Amino acid sequence: MKPEVLGFATRAILAGRNAARQATPAVTPLVSTSLFTFEDTEDLLRFYQADEGYLYLRYGGPNQDVVAAKLASLEGAEAGLLFASGMAAITTTLLALLEPGDHVIAAHQLYPGTHNFLAHVAPKLQVEVTRVQADSLSQAEQSLKPYTKVLFWESPTNPSLYLADLAALAELAHSVGALLVVDNTFATPYNQRPLELGADLVVHSATKYLAGHSALLAGACVGKADLLEPIAKFARTLGGTLGSFETWLLELGLKTLHVRMDRHNANAQKVAEFLSAHPKVEYVHYPGLSSDPQHKLARQQMTGYSGMVSFAVKGGPEAATRVVDAARVITRGASLGAVESLINQPAITLGFSLSEAERRLLAIPPNLIRLSVGLEEVEDLLADLDQALQQA
Ligand SMILES: *Cc1c(COP(=O)(O)O)cnc(C)c1O
Repeated sequence: MKPEVLGFATRAILAGRNAARQATPAVTPLVSTSLFTFEDTEDLLRFYQADEGYLYLRYGGPNQDVVAAKLASLEGAEAGLLFASGMAAITTTLLALLEPGDHVIAAHQLYPGTHNFLAHVAPKLQVEVTRVQADSLSQAEQSLKPYTKVLFWESPTNPSLYLADLAALAELAHSVGALLVVDNTFATPYNQRPLELGADLVVHSATKYLAGHSALLAGACVGKADLLEPIAKFARTLGGTLGSFETWLLELGLKTLHVRMDRHNANAQKVAEFLSAHPKVEYVHYPGLSSDPQHKLARQQMTGYSGMVSFAVKGGPEAATRVVDAARVITRGASLGAVESLINQPAITLGFSLSEAERRLLAIPPNLIRLSVGLEEVEDLLADLDQALQQA
């Protein structure tokens, strides 16, 4: 049909769509569409039968494929899936893997969203959950059952930065035919690749270091393609897939992950050493400190120690609050992994809706401060911490 015979409204919608020249942009174009059309029914059937092309954004799109492949490559995985948030990645993955009657072993020390899922949602699905100390292999081993299906761990944990021996946990999991799923948000694949240590799946809050700029929410799950297939099916049904603009921004973030992590690692090391020597500081958690009880394990399984430091202030919770409130260069905020340094008191942020007993189990002491060390000049960060600690 000749364009000039089409009406104004039809031309407003369709005209010009083939007018662009062939081009190869350096940056993946943002494909901002929920819908991909098909040439004919044969073309449509190719989508269903041969997994070719795209149909509808909840089932996947070109930006999503590019970023999933990039993240899979960085983690040493066969394939990857993107989600609308870290929690969507974690819950969709666990819902796809678990059935009524299955058993999960997980660390007490988990992101509170994951803790809430295991404590309050899993029992509704008749999934049995045993929680153990993050750094205790013997507790994990004693909890194994013939019907254990998943071991779920963070390493380092949020916010007390406990490490778990991931290779040993993978062996334990595999001894009963279970899968080890690791939340690698704190370390990032630049510093730690759990799949190379034997883990089966890695999940992420890509909101944090992977995106890196506090500009978006995203999540991911990477691993072997056959393990991801049922998770991808669940993702389509549950609907927590990632939008294209967020995916596009995440791709830009991932391109500088290595440079940012080098600076996060270096700045955090200096901050942790400074805090360890400070008279107002009771103790510091940072796996990169040679005095850290888990430093040897850190050196075994990590190539860098990331930007997360937590420390307890002498003088109790009120003193910790005064330090947080006195920060001038460091930004107060409840997230992490961003270009700007972020400070908060986890008992009030992460722990606000938890009971005191839960806060104790999750290793969130009242006088703890969590610091996500950013990319500012480290001298400015040290001076800011020094003046803030005078208020303790
Ligand atoms: C933030 C975070 C999550 C949740 O991710 P969202 O993107 O906020 O949904 C999960 N795990 C860890 C370790 C986190 O820090």
